[in-house]
Amino acid sequence: MSGTPRYRFAPSPTGFFHVGGARTALFNWALARSTGGTFVLRIEDTDEARNQPEWTQGIIDSLAWIGISADDPHFEGPLFQSAYADAHLAAAQRLVESGHAYFCDMTPDDIRARAEEEDVAGYAGWSRDRGLGPGPGHVLRFRVPDGVTVVRDQVRGDVEFDNAVIEDFVLLRGNGTPVFMLANVVDDAEMGITDVVRAEEHLPNTPKQQMIWEALGHAAPVWAHVPVLVNEQRKKLSKRRDKVALEQYREEGILADAMVNYLMTLGWTMPGAEEAATEIFPWSDMESAFRLEDVNLSPAFFDIKKLLSFNGEYIRQLSVDELVAACDPWLPGEWDRTRFAEIAPHIQQRLNTLADAPGVVDFLFLPDPEFDEASWDKTMTTEYAEPLLADAITAYDGVSEGDWQHEHLKATLEDVMVRYDLKLGKAQAPVRVAVTGRTVGPPLFEALEVMGREESLRRMRVAHSRMATGEPPG
Ligand code: GLU
Repeated sequence: MSGTPRYRFAPSPTGFFHVGGARTALFNWALARSTGGTFVLRIEDTDEARNQPEWTQGIIDSLAWIGISADDPHFEGPLFQSAYADAHLAAAQRLVESGHAYFCDMTPDDIRARAEEEDVAGYAGWSRDRGLGPGPGHVLRFRVPDGVTVVRDQVRGDVEFDNAVIEDFVLLRGNGTPVFMLANVVDDAEMGITDVVRAEEHLPNTPKQQMIWEALGHAAPVWAHVPVLVNEQRKKLSKRRDKVALEQYREEGILADAMVNYLMTLGWTMPGAEEAATEIFPWSDMESAFRLEDVNLSPAFFDIKKLLSFNGEYIRQLSVDELVAACDPWLPGEWDRTRFAEIAPHIQQRLNTLADAPGVVDFLFLPDPEFDEASWDKTMTTEYAEPLLADAITAYDGVSEGDWQHEHLKATLEDVMVRYDLKLGKAQAPVRVAVTGRTVGPPLFEALEVMGREESLRRMRVAHSRMATGEPPG
């Protein structure tokens, strides 16, 4: 071993990659990189009934998306738990030989019956001294010693477990296959893992795993259990109830950098964040500042609204070229990218996700605007709307192609609106609905500039004639 820390992230490929997993992976990644250590990706693929190869690929792709790249020198793997099957069995054998484990043939029904009879809570070590050997249906159990087990946790401090309440747990199932508890420890030992940073839900496993480490003659790793993620109701995030798949956020137009920054705030606060009055920090700063000692204990609320606001901030930090490139996958193939690039700087302020982009600017690419009925009713049926739009058309008709730019277009409408004693917000609404179909959208005069003189005027005229005839928008 090189003497530098070896962290690991050990997901089971049994479903979409969970945001909680991503947070744990990032904590490990920050530690591995800032200590000059290693981040081992171990795929715990021994649950054959639930594993799918595509989930493994999903994990690798999702990690790469949040910057945990297999090409980085700190990255090792993926290693697969299934490749260590011999080591799991060899370890079990050693535990039998050293007297730390014994075989038991009692079925769950036998155990329930006996527990009832003796009025005890669970399995009370009944086969400890029966001298059973391996055989079909015989599980291998760990002989839990008397005393207490102290788990030194970097987040929680010392956590004491009374061994009396830990029953002799199973290491090998009746069919001889190792359970999570054993395989996970043996892998960590085989892979030279020095620091286990994982979700809080594994804390109850830890005293048992520490006993296995010690029984195998190793010093246990440094442990750290990071707080669970909860939803708005303070319930643990679950794939049945909540949107938890990282991939889904990616598809909905969350930027990787925003996701990474947001995930890092779940259970951890960047030192100096309060003074700086922001939680937005570049990865490199977070990576070097991250310490397990600063991780807090309380469950972390995965707040989608906050994630969206982080994303909005990250979108605003992009250059126009970056924004155009980032939005590209969400734009219909036939849309003119040059035109999109012209409007992009004007919508940057209002995007919370990249996926919002097409809906904000679609009017520029459609042959006609899609009229939103509520916008039409609210805006086009006022007393002044029709004459004002007529005057606006006349005024805009007098603007040459060369002058068709936003300052001039604004001044032109301002000249018109004084006749109606209106403020700009009200005065521009009929023009906006005529051209874009809606009351909300990018700044109007910039939009008119990008749309061009001829098409803008055409749309104003079409809308005006509909108003005049009372024809409903369609
Ligand atoms: N495969 C386990 C999980 O996904 C790993 C637990 C651990 O990190 O030790 O929960």
